[in-house]
Amino acid sequence: MTALDQNIEKLTGHLTRFKETGIPNRIAGQDRPGSGGVFQTLSPVDKTVICDVAHGTADDIDAAAWAAADAFPAWRDMPATQRRKILLNVAEAIEDRAEEIALCECWDTGQALRFMSKAALRGAENFRYFADQVVQARDGQHLKSPTLMNITTRVPIGPVGVITPWNTPFMLSTWKIAPALASGCTVVHKPAEASPLTARLLVEIAEEAGLPPGVLNTVNGFGEDAGKALTEHPKIKAIAFVGESRTGSIITKQGADTLKRMHLELGGKNPVIVFDDADLERALDAVIFMIYSINGERCTSSSRLLVQDTIREAFEARLVERVNNIKVGHPLDPATEIGPLVTQEHYDKVTSYFDIAKQDGATVAAGGVKVGDRGFFVRPTLFTNATNKMRIAQEEIFGPVLTSIPFSTEEDALEMANDTAYGLTGYVWTNDLTRALRFTDKLEAGMIWVNSENVRHLPTPFGGVKSSGIGRDGGDWSFEFYMEQKHIGFATGQHKITRLGA
Ligand code: NAD
Repeated sequence: MTALDQNIEKLTGHLTRFKETGIPNRIAGQDRPGSGGVFQTLSPVDKTVICDVAHGTADDIDAAAWAAADAFPAWRDMPATQRRKILLNVAEAIEDRAEEIALCECWDTGQALRFMSKAALRGAENFRYFADQVVQARDGQHLKSPTLMNITTRVPIGPVGVITPWNTPFMLSTWKIAPALASGCTVVHKPAEASPLTARLLVEIAEEAGLPPGVLNTVNGFGEDAGKALTEHPKIKAIAFVGESRTGSIITKQGADTLKRMHLELGGKNPVIVFDDADLERALDAVIFMIYSINGERCTSSSRLLVQDTIREAFEARLVERVNNIKVGHPLDPATEIGPLVTQEHYDKVTSYFDIAKQDGATVAAGGVKVGDRGFFVRPTLFTNATNKMRIAQEEIFGPVLTSIPFSTEEDALEMANDTAYGLTGYVWTNDLTRALRFTDKLEAGMIWVNSENVRHLPTPFGGVKSSGIGRDGGDWSFEFYMEQKHIGFATGQHKITRLGA
């Protein structure tokens, strides 16, 4: 039996219960059907139905928001050490079921197992990291004035909504939900309609690990009904959203009437800039990894290569060779590097750029073709002879598709790097330290790596500028979002109070 066959057998075992009962909503520790009936989630591997999923609507969101509001006081007031212990138990329980999470994630989203097994463990790491900061999360400052002893403290904002996309959904959900729970907030989670499986596993695992009912509620459904209702619900105090920039803008409007605090992690068209003095071997590995790993369905992917014209020909030639060698296949095959794209809609969007590139005058140097017709597979694609004005250089394709653009001077590179609506990440490859400092200072991005691919360190701020988002996650920035600052002033004596009407 091959490793692929073994993984398929294990997956089949894990899916049996989903096939029998479908995926209900989870509200106040109870399974509830969706008020809108059910919808089906399909596997992008072969377009077969995985299972029925509760179609949540505004009624279900209302029930979940009230459940989160009812559970809030007890969760907020639970001793921090006890809350910490529960979150650490969740981390351990995720590790225990990491294989099941990874297999389900691959089947639901098309992501390759080699990346998803790490993403499941990263989910546990997220819980562990934020659990470790629970005890000091409410600490504040002491700001003495001549007449007052001023102190600050932080309190959880209240029940919050978490809305997540379908790319690496388990990891991303924990990245939002773990700090919310650590802050003392309760949560209503609306996972992406295309990837409901692991959101169900998460709430199940959390409750089994001791999370009280109602502290985490999961309502499945679509953006325009369940998602919209969540952003408009008066009991929900903040929305942590990850998704497209266009949706971020819609959500901001939806939340306006109830003055929602918003944290938006949105799209990107991230540049990787390779100067001719760089370590080109490492740069090549990083360029390939940052666009073709995770199916290129990655907000931080470096989808625009800006390569210095002096090395362009040789660099692109090596790139073509490597890209043509990337293994596209079944996501549960440990050798697979790229699996199928998540949905028919997304597959149609990504493949439409194969023609757009040609129409705009670029060259398809590698890939640019669909693979088979059973699932949503495409060959990893490289466009060359492109300019930064083309649609393939400006629009977020969100697939394994790289656009290579030459530059001659540092000034040209900087101008092109910044000439985009987005500003999530940037990657700079040079061995000239002064240039690296100068360049990163002017590069418009929330996160920049020099001579490195994206390596996450959880205490660092994660987020984008321009159309890539508002707000930061990571370290104490996450607590800042899910908590309110409170100031209390104590008079230290009989200071003069101005008397009116005396
Ligand atoms: P999407 O915006 O279509 O959907 C994201 C979520 O929003 C889904 O759960 C969807 O149901 C919900 N939604 C849609 N319309 C809504 C509405 N009107 N009200 C409330 N909720 C609504 O995004 P997607 O296609 O699922 O994900 C891909 C996008 O996510 C890409 O643009 C990618 O760059 C972005 N992303 C960003 C980050 C980041 O950290 N910056 C991380 C991952 C993905």
